[in-house]
Amino acid sequence: MIGAGPAGSAAAWHAAQQGLDVLIVDQAQFPRDKTCGDGLTPRAIHQLELMGIDVTSHYHSKGLKLHGFGGSVEAPWPDSPFGTLGSAMPRTELDQTLLDHAVAQDSVRFLGGAGATEVTVEGSIKQVRLSDGTQIHPRFVIVADGVRSTFGKQLGRTWHKGEVFGIAARSYCDTPFCDEPWIHSHLELRDAEGTIQPGYGWIFPLGDGRANVGCGALSTDKRPAKVNTKKLLHLYADQQRVAWEFAKPQHVTSALLPMGGAVSGVAGPNWMLIGDAAACVNPLNGEGIDYGLETARMAVAILGQGEDFSDTWPAVLREHYGEAFLLARTLARALTYPQFLPLTGPFALRKPLGKYIMPTAARLMGNLVVEQDRDLVARCWRAASGMSMRLRGDRVLWG
Ligand SMILES: Cc1cc2nc3c(=O)[nH]c(=O)nc-3n(C[C@H](O)[C@H](O)[C@H](O)COP(=O)(O)OP(=O)(O)OC[C@H]3O[C@@H](n4cnc5c(N)ncnc54)[C@H](O)[C@@H]3O)c2cc1C
Repeated sequence: MIGAGPAGSAAAWHAAQQGLDVLIVDQAQFPRDKTCGDGLTPRAIHQLELMGIDVTSHYHSKGLKLHGFGGSVEAPWPDSPFGTLGSAMPRTELDQTLLDHAVAQDSVRFLGGAGATEVTVEGSIKQVRLSDGTQIHPRFVIVADGVRSTFGKQLGRTWHKGEVFGIAARSYCDTPFCDEPWIHSHLELRDAEGTIQPGYGWIFPLGDGRANVGCGALSTDKRPAKVNTKKLLHLYADQQRVAWEFAKPQHVTSALLPMGGAVSGVAGPNWMLIGDAAACVNPLNGEGIDYGLETARMAVAILGQGEDFSDTWPAVLREHYGEAFLLARTLARALTYPQFLPLTGPFALRKPLGKYIMPTAARLMGNLVVEQDRDLVARCWRAASGMSMRLRGDRVLWG
């Protein structure tokens, strides 16, 4: 495994369950931080539970509270096979927990501070060279090296920035309201002059005396979000200071998020890219931890079947996420038009429509519609995403 984030560690754990010997390498020494909102939806909690990890005992959320355009709406996590609990955990802790869980398996070894720097490919990967000079001759390689995917790039991974992507910044703020059971998102951010800013803000309580406070915006090559996310974050934290009794934001960092499968070159004969490396991030809510955990499980499920993964892996990704990601990307693209939210926000967030629209939106944004759901929203969502897939799917997803 290249990379010991949620995707790499989960893949190592799943591979150990299949009786495989695993080496995980990461260029960082652990525990390490990762720029993230630290939010975990019920989908992510479900994946962690499948691995025997419970993170809800220290903090759990019951849903999302959305604010803006003169309204505030509560959207509880919907009743679904994933359960109705979310959580949030600083990545220094979550990633260490996952790595420890993997390394607790007898057949898993971890090398920290060891970047995978060179690769020898003769059809398949024959050798991986680490930053300390160690040479490895793996049977399979799962590449979970995150958003920049420097190792993946050597294998031909290309990120298509014409598709929508995220830019975001996060911080940690001390607050006495760290046990607040709703995670909060503000869809209308204004500067001191009252000018509306592109982007949205989030406050994810952590249950440890702090909240993860951040903001983000959606962008494309053609319509770059003209926003300094770190500056916007400070403005947002100032605006929320009284309500949350926030201390000064600490550890402010920012990063990009590739989304919705907008990369190509994700597999070869004996290797697969998973998690952020494969742009498996939900374009509508920026959630990627869950997709890292899910793609880990799915990739390991096809390891050892003796197949060439070059076509199999993109096909598996398309089957599981194609419809939802493609429709989400289309909707997210609409959000890159500066007029979109100011026009639709007041209807969506104010009474009387808000209390009907936003819980539905939160369900769709969280990709919490499942095959078994038979209600009207689920049927319409499936029909629309199926149509997008037929029109564009094979060309623009992991293709
Ligand atoms: C501001 C922001 C907010 C976000 N908020 C949320 C949120 O609230 N909830 C959510 O679910 N998702 C969120 N995300 C997305 C989430 O952070 C990622 O989707 C998630 O970290 C992906 O996990 P991963 O294991 O694929 O990659 P990573 O967690 O990035 O792990 C990759 C690992 O690979 C290692 N590595 C890289 N290159 C090499 C190499 N050559 N050799 C060895 N090791 C290497 C790195 O050191 C790193 O440890 C957010 C992202 C951003 C930027």
